[in-house]
Amino acid sequence: MKVVIVGGGFGGVKTALGLAKDDKLQVTLVSDRDHFLFYPALYATATGRSRRQSIIPISDMLAGSRVKFIQDTMTSLDTERHIVITNDHQLPYDRVVLALGVVTSYFGIEGLDKYSYSIKSAHEIYRFKRHLHDELTSEHQFDKNYIIVGAGPTGVELSAAMGHYLKRIAKKHKIRQRTVHLSLVEAAPRVLPRMSERASEMVEKQLKKLGVKVMTNKKVESEDDDSIIISGKDIPSKTVVWTSGVANSPFFAEHSDIFRLAKNGRVEVDEHLKVSERVYVIGDNASTPFTGLAQTAIHDAMFVTKAIRAEAHKRPLPTYRAKKQPVVIPVGENWAIFEFGPLRLGGFMASMVRRAAGFVGYTDYLPVTTAFKLFLSEDDLEEECSICK
Ligand SMILES: Cc1cc2nc3c(=O)[nH]c(=O)nc-3n(C[C@H](O)[C@H](O)[C@H](O)COP(=O)(O)OP(=O)(O)OC[C@H]3O[C@@H](n4cnc5c(N)ncnc54)[C@H](O)[C@@H]3O)c2cc1C
Repeated sequence: MKVVIVGGGFGGVKTALGLAKDDKLQVTLVSDRDHFLFYPALYATATGRSRRQSIIPISDMLAGSRVKFIQDTMTSLDTERHIVITNDHQLPYDRVVLALGVVTSYFGIEGLDKYSYSIKSAHEIYRFKRHLHDELTSEHQFDKNYIIVGAGPTGVELSAAMGHYLKRIAKKHKIRQRTVHLSLVEAAPRVLPRMSERASEMVEKQLKKLGVKVMTNKKVESEDDDSIIISGKDIPSKTVVWTSGVANSPFFAEHSDIFRLAKNGRVEVDEHLKVSERVYVIGDNASTPFTGLAQTAIHDAMFVTKAIRAEAHKRPLPTYRAKKQPVVIPVGENWAIFEFGPLRLGGFMASMVRRAAGFVGYTDYLPVTTAFKLFLSEDDLEEECSICK
């Protein structure tokens, strides 16, 4: 049986590695990038940690497996002839798994697409860090305000780590200024709106301790090259980081003859994560109860592996069960918030849980020794210096 998986992220790579263990299956993974983004560590790479921890070659992950990897972009899906169509290939399939992830959405807010920064890809991180270094070397002082928009997990992690990073690069450029004005802006009434109110309070308190000004119930209205308007107030800033909006991959809306979209723009799937006989949709693309998390994408990948193997071996198809996942978010170096149902823990112990979860996350994709090396890799000072030049 030929299986084509599209998307080299959390869902796609995990599915490919799982299916490749079955000799009955020929597995091809197609992705538009040659690397895997370990999203939970991107904020750390954006604030001085090694890029190796979050940007991992797909070839390292597939080494020793039977997966054939093709770097290319899927442009269409022919469900009549069962072919994945990419820029340069036509790939016949018996089963196809789509795990294309999400894209940034600016909700049509003027200027954000042009002037704001983002940390969702290797290129965006480089552009952001380059800006921080360039500004410090040309102006010899901190920006008037560093503004992070969106107090979801990424905004919280990034704003908590920024102050320390800025002081570190200021020291490298021999700039003595001490005060950094850092703000975290959120349209909802509290930070981390998907967590409990108590967790939000604990995190807000911790952010304040780290010198982050938390602005809730505030909406970004527009941005230009040296200021941002937030709920009617013009605030000078050349450093706005947008961590807020995401939207489902546009591929699905562009192929509305094949996919039905739920209200949230994600794809409606049946109890086997299928949209039709041969097409599975998983991870961030699927409208499941806990979509939008790496752990859900891994859970979906494990389910789909089981389902396709069942089909290949003519066993009954299993039924998908959504699984609530624990959440743990770092807020600075040695503090994190952990929450799972009624269980909640904030502080140093939770930061240890987060570190352990990071290591376990790598072992889902890499041999334990490689995962361990990545986990322990030091800050890449050489890389930081090449940004300074
Ligand atoms: C900054 C950030 C931090 C996060 N932190 C956490 C966290 O701490 N914990 C957590 O659980 N979740 C976190 N998430 C969410 C998590 O990363 C996603 O839920 C997860 O990546 C979803 O996996 P996926 O396989 O569906 O998509 P992805 O991992 O995004 O993979 C999609 C892949 O498909 C490729 N692709 C897209 N279109 C095409 C095409 N047409 N042809 C070929 N390839 C294509 C993309 O390049 C990408 O490689 C974070 C997300 C972000 C953005």
